[in-house]
Amino acid sequence: TATRELLLSRIRDVHDHPEPGIVFKDITPLLADPAAFAALTGTFAEMCARLGATKIVGLEARGFILAAPVAVSAGVGFIPVRKAGKLPGATLRQAYELEYGTAEIEVHAEDLAPGDRVLVIDDVLATGGTAEASLELIRRAGAEVVGVAVLMELGFLQGRARLEPALGGAPLEAV
Ligand code: 5GP
Repeated sequence: TATRELLLSRIRDVHDHPEPGIVFKDITPLLADPAAFAALTGTFAEMCARLGATKIVGLEARGFILAAPVAVSAGVGFIPVRKAGKLPGATLRQAYELEYGTAEIEVHAEDLAPGDRVLVIDDVLATGGTAEASLELIRRAGAEVVGVAVLMELGFLQGRARLEPALGGAPLEAV
């Protein structure tokens, strides 16, 4: 569609970032274009309504930028999932495997409860490790995952396949 073409045209390929051999998808041109940013948040807000989400989880850090305006326009709460050690209150913590080593993310335990219907938003799905761990956190809190929305999926990294079991039938949608 025209919207999709607009959005993808505003993502810049940065070669050899953050390491030689990596092509980093930079979303800052999209954020700087108000029509594109509004089109993206509108697409995500539509998904939020369609799935009947009652809370939106954003994944640090670019996921925060995309998820917060969606939460406001959809009229639902915004919940940050952060790298371990940042949130001040009582948290649930989840470790996950990286290519080399492990990472940990956290959510405030009081932010999610049984009965919540959660849409997870991030900018890029790469290996799927971060999203998979966030789905674990949400389930451990007793809430239901109704979908995962990303701007873009790096298909060659097979994040979708990694995420599939944790999705439990909920949709993973890229624009
Ligand atoms: P994953 O856990 O799926 O391997 O990595 C996803 C996380 O890393 C996301 O939070 C995403 O923001 C970030 N990420 C990985 N690769 C890229 C990239 O090429 N561009 C952007 N913008 N983020 C990336």
